Amino acid sequence: MNVADSERAATGLRKAGYELCESPEKADVVLVNTCSVRERAQQKASTRIGEVRAQQSGDQKLLVGVMGCVAQLEGDSIFRRWPTVDMVIGTRATDRIPALIEEALSGKRHVSDLGERAENESWDVSPFERHSAHVAFVPIIEGCNKFCSFCIVPYSRGREQSRSASEIIAEVIKLKSLGYKEIHLIGQNVNSYRPRSDSALEHFAGATPFCRLLRAVAATGVPRIKFTTSFPRDFHPDIVSAVEENLNLCDWVHLPVQSGSDRILKLMRRGHKRTDYLERVDRIKKSRRRLALTSDIIVGFPGETEKDFQQTVDLVEQCKYDGLYIIKYSKRPGTPAANLSDDVSEEEKTARFLELERIQRHAQQAVYEAYIGRTISVLAERESSRSKSDLVGHSTCHKVVNFPGRDSIEGEIVEVLVTEAKANSLYGVMVNSLEMA
Ligand code: SAM
Repeated sequence: MNVADSERAATGLRKAGYELCESPEKADVVLVNTCSVRERAQQKASTRIGEVRAQQSGDQKLLVGVMGCVAQLEGDSIFRRWPTVDMVIGTRATDRIPALIEEALSGKRHVSDLGERAENESWDVSPFERHSAHVAFVPIIEGCNKFCSFCIVPYSRGREQSRSASEIIAEVIKLKSLGYKEIHLIGQNVNSYRPRSDSALEHFAGATPFCRLLRAVAATGVPRIKFTTSFPRDFHPDIVSAVEENLNLCDWVHLPVQSGSDRILKLMRRGHKRTDYLERVDRIKKSRRRLALTSDIIVGFPGETEKDFQQTVDLVEQCKYDGLYIIKYSKRPGTPAANLSDDVSEEEKTARFLELERIQRHAQQAVYEAYIGRTISVLAERESSRSKSDLVGHSTCHKVVNFPGRDSIEGEIVEVLVTEAKANSLYGVMVNSLEMA
């Protein structure tokens, strides 16, 4: 979501006549886009602001702005905490950045905007500003209404607001005509999608508006569609049916569980129990397409006992995830969980993190090794950072795949025979290059 916000900010700035440069030394304005999901991300932003000012040359007149979640949460107190900051730009003010810069340039000392999005705001992102020429992020829903007790997102990004389906479809059709091969429909909880009108979905069936949107986006014929993140409580089995019916809906589901203990899930206010989650996983695993499954887990939530943790271990072993983000609980001021005693020691959090990582690595190895000898479709995204003779891309099931290839095929979808499984990636050879040899 932060990448998508930066792309939008850059689009608006360029439209207003600003140039984007590569380094802060050459800049007149530096915007630091921030995340507040974990304390570490917030600390990183703080360090970055300090670095930008420290690198500033003596005669450089530099405006520094903080945008994103930290800006929205901390508002004008940022000016006291970091006196060298000139602008505070909230999560819904991305489109107004050029006007805010003008205000600061006109001599106003502290400029801030924590307001709402304007009606009919443009979500346009110029292809020039996209993070990739082949993969595009398309936000479909912003904010969150779930209020999980640990999570800051409902406060930093506000309530759920869905984009209209007609706007989303128009954007996907445009991206397809520009040659994008892979679209990621993104949002905190994509499957909670609930637009105000039916427009553009009239001809698409589905148990929920999100299922209808999936089918409508699939009908555009764009080669690959991925969607993330899905919220377990809102995960309707019809999502799997839509993926089974449409091969361009990719074979990957990211479904964060957070814990395997009902007691902790209740304290987290997740709105789902372990068995509810496992029912959804069962539907995913029984799909007639093999669907990759990934998840997020928080270890060391307040009050998590060894018994609770072992229930999480058990769930992870049962789910056989293709990938897992394990995160140590981080207390976020203002959330309900921040009132609970953060009583799992840092050492215990680390020990649980490492144990779960070890279990996942073992399970993941088996999942990855099962790909050896199989041919999978890979979007050749760019040169590998490890070897100039290799390209790297993602499979439809969202595995990182490296293979020998020239940059002339970048942006193409190629068939790769998997020959090796590494810890977090696959290695293989292009099938057509084998045929030519
Ligand atoms: N809405 C999705 C869900 O919960 O199903 C995920 C969005 S959330 C912003 C991304 C991930 O950040 C969560 O799945 C969770 O694992 C992690 N996260 C959020 N708040 C956290 C906290 N206070 N401490 C540690 N991890 C956290």
